Amino acid sequence: MANILKAPRGTMDVLPDKIDKWTYIEYTARETANLFGFKEIRFPTFESIDLFRRGVGETTDVVQKEMFTFTHGNSNFALRPEGTASTVRLVLSNGLYNDPMPLKLFYITSCFRGERPQAGRLREFHQFGVELFGTAEPSADAEIILLAKTMFNNLGIKGLRLEINSIGCPNCRKDYQNALREYFTSKQDGLCDTCKSRLGRNPMRILDCKSPECQKIAEAAPKVTDYICDDCRTHFEAVQNQLKNLNVDFIVNTSIVRGLDYYTRTVFEFIDEKRGLTLCGGGRYDGLVSQLGGPELPALGFAMGLERLIMTMDEQGCSYETEQNKTVYFATIGDAASKKAAELALKLRTEGISAEYDLVGRSMKAQMKYANRKGFAFTVAIGDNELNSNTAELKNMQTGETIPVTLDDKIIEAIDNAIVKETMKELEETIEKDKIFNS
Ligand code: ATP
Ligand code: MG
Repeated sequence: MANILKAPRGTMDVLPDKIDKWTYIEYTARETANLFGFKEIRFPTFESIDLFRRGVGETTDVVQKEMFTFTHGNSNFALRPEGTASTVRLVLSNGLYNDPMPLKLFYITSCFRGERPQAGRLREFHQFGVELFGTAEPSADAEIILLAKTMFNNLGIKGLRLEINSIGCPNCRKDYQNALREYFTSKQDGLCDTCKSRLGRNPMRILDCKSPECQKIAEAAPKVTDYICDDCRTHFEAVQNQLKNLNVDFIVNTSIVRGLDYYTRTVFEFIDEKRGLTLCGGGRYDGLVSQLGGPELPALGFAMGLERLIMTMDEQGCSYETEQNKTVYFATIGDAASKKAAELALKLRTEGISAEYDLVGRSMKAQMKYANRKGFAFTVAIGDNELNSNTAELKNMQTGETIPVTLDDKIIEAIDNAIVKETMKELEETIEKDKIFNS
């Protein structure tokens, strides 16, 4: 029997001491997407298996090897391995293609792929993804890349290399696929079994195979940029010019094809130079909407892996700027004091001030120790004396300073003032530090 106390291989628990990292990244993603005018969407965790077969592509690693599938009744489903196919399905199911264009959508979601787990590669992972519909203009490609770059800047991640390529349109793709087929057929014996089977249907997939033998053979394969048509070439040049205008550094890497079949024209990746880890992948998918039964609607987007963002941020010592929101702790002795604390905590919470009190029945000393460990900014101890006089001491846990407060509505104002005073002090300290730093 499986060990029920172990999380499934390739999945991860997030514990309270790490949750701030997640909420900070999610918050930054939402803020950044909003700055560029993108609206959040949510889609189901599973979809018809055919959506991904047709959307992501039959000959991709994702569909051939990595999907979690299940049957319920007469229907076949898959847990979403990525967000783009689901987004396109959502756009089509809900007629969003009738909205004013461009349509700008984003998501923060879990994805599932049955890969071999290792650092930065999980079976359940999370993506921040952005999709832009309704424009084939090169300026849109640059805008999407700029959004990804802004997200990295906002998180304080440095040392990323942006690599871009154009993989052409279905017209020029034909010539390229033929050239690849010819090349790989001559090296057929060295390819892995999956790639042998791809040779007939989609030789371009071999370029993205992770097997070292296939990668070695792929090195000398024909380059897509030698086969793209004039329109695609002009488009790619315009994207590059626009990136230069925006001061976005990039290099052209003609071997990027990306792992999903729907891409056309521009594809790109942001790679952490130190680890060689891809944090973000994206590109254009001008044919996908019509391929899934919708109108001709050019589109593009990217997805970044949140686990890989955290790994990189931890390694680079980026700060997560989390807000410590533990404000007041009431330490109590006796039932009457406990009741009073519950009442006061409720008043404070109604005013948006976080407040807690003992729920375990511990001694006063143990409660104060707990408040200290948990990082409360203030404590109020309530026993019989305090109840009789209806006053207590509000203690600043950092400075040890105390001020008298009454145990009624007036405590709200007193705590509010104490918080403002603390915030002002912190602000002054920051300004002072900046002065020293800048002088
Ligand atoms: P890779 O080449 O690393 O397998 P991919 O091409 O399969 O990546 P995409 O499908 O483009 O990746 O997904 C976009 C991003 O999602 C990746 O750049 C990465 O940050 C993240 N990602 C993809 N697969 C995983 C995974 N199994 N575990 C964690 N993050 C992942
Ligand atoms: Mg992959």
